[in-house]
Amino acid sequence: MKRFLSTRSGLRTESFDVAIAGGGLVGASVALGLARDKLAAPLSVALVDSSLPPAKEEVFDRPTLRTSTISLKSHKWIQGLGAWKDKHATAFGDMFVYDKNQGITFDAKQDELVHLGYVVENVILRNEMYKRLRELRGKENTGATITEIDAGISEVDYTGDPKHASIVLQDGKRLSAQLIVGAEGANSVARRESEIGYWRHDYRQRAVVANVKTKDQSSTAWQRFLGKSGPVAMLPIKGGSISNVVWSTTPAEAKALTAMSDGEFLKELNLAFEEDWEGRVPPLAVEVVGKRASFPLSVSHATEYVGKRLVLVGDAAHGVHPLAGQGVNLGFADAEELVRCLAVAASTGRAIGLDEALLLKYQGRRMPENLFMTGVLHSIKSVYEWDDPSLESLRSFGVKMVDSMPLVKRAIVKYQTLGDLR
Ligand SMILES: Cc1cc2nc3c(=O)[nH]c(=O)nc-3n(C[C@H](O)[C@H](O)[C@H](O)COP(=O)(O)OP(=O)(O)OC[C@H]3O[C@@H](n4cnc5c(N)ncnc54)[C@H](O)[C@@H]3O)c2cc1C
Repeated sequence: MKRFLSTRSGLRTESFDVAIAGGGLVGASVALGLARDKLAAPLSVALVDSSLPPAKEEVFDRPTLRTSTISLKSHKWIQGLGAWKDKHATAFGDMFVYDKNQGITFDAKQDELVHLGYVVENVILRNEMYKRLRELRGKENTGATITEIDAGISEVDYTGDPKHASIVLQDGKRLSAQLIVGAEGANSVARRESEIGYWRHDYRQRAVVANVKTKDQSSTAWQRFLGKSGPVAMLPIKGGSISNVVWSTTPAEAKALTAMSDGEFLKELNLAFEEDWEGRVPPLAVEVVGKRASFPLSVSHATEYVGKRLVLVGDAAHGVHPLAGQGVNLGFADAEELVRCLAVAASTGRAIGLDEALLLKYQGRRMPENLFMTGVLHSIKSVYEWDDPSLESLRSFGVKMVDSMPLVKRAIVKYQTLGDLR
């Protein structure tokens, strides 16, 4: 229930049961999950973000830069939230991952799946989540009451009132909550100011991102490993007529790739994919659509997901290399699990922020999978950077073995797309 508390300075502080710090894809999905779950109806929730989507629907006349591959498991979760629109997503049926010596193909049909996953533009999916959230406002028979707060968070204080934590906004206002959900991404203020430890390894790499029009349509996700200046991926968007390029490389090359002319970039991109061991290449990129940008890459993990009146989700808890498009999918799985825990707690009248056993259940269910995936992705990245000829042969042998073992490939696909091995 939302109410006002008095502070020592005499100012009134708005008080909530839960405050979600950061309303990116993961934080917004926690809010939407709670808003749709009837069990969560007793909860008042603040959703705080410094850049909330505008009230008026945004129309984008060109493809936007940041995209995510969405696993079938995440697709099911987003669909359940009512925020999935087929017209906003491009399905891919197969995936081809290769280097100069060997390659591996994953094909949905071989695994009795319709697709391996989807590619969505982040801003469009996030806007759809807020649209649903706003449509639910004031409706009966729904879940938690969500209050959007468009403001930057400058501080989170866990030391005052033992039953609440308080968020200090950049304009000096405060709000308090029994539980803070830290969802502000890698630089989470809520995590930084808590007692939770955090390790981060800077890959000294940047991901150059661009959209390119291709000569032919494609429904394949392509990834080519190029040693230390890779991998480079081409992911179909806009029904396959455009590809979103994610090229992880050294900071110096990233600078060059973002600064060069469109023509030079296309030449470099087509060349990067050209050297194929089997003659299979993605459709020729013929035009750069919009601007290019680059983002720093690192791997990170919080030592705990649960602290005093704090729980972490998404990139605030863990960050991985984008080479397998898993980051936000892990975050959505966190969100789904947390919503389940909080809804059950709300419906049974348990103290949301103080029930450590409940929150530790969330951590116990999410941390092993996130740590496992972090390790796997870090290992893949390291193995593909080997440039010693004998190690390269070993890698090629391994890839060849995996590619020739349908059961192993099926297990990889099932785990990556459905989140389990059944
Ligand atoms: C190049 C690249 C490609 C990627 N591709 C994929 C992919 O294909 N598939 C995939 O699953 N993952 C991918 N990822 C990872 C994915 O983008 C992240 O895992 C995901 O965006 C994390 O979502 P989040 O909501 O946890 O955090 P964020 O997206 O970082 O959102 C945090 C939110 O908090 C808000 N915020 C932050 N600080 C404050 C503050 N102080 N006050 C108020 N608000 C604040 C921000 O405005 C933002 O809305 C990729 C990452 C990169 C860099």
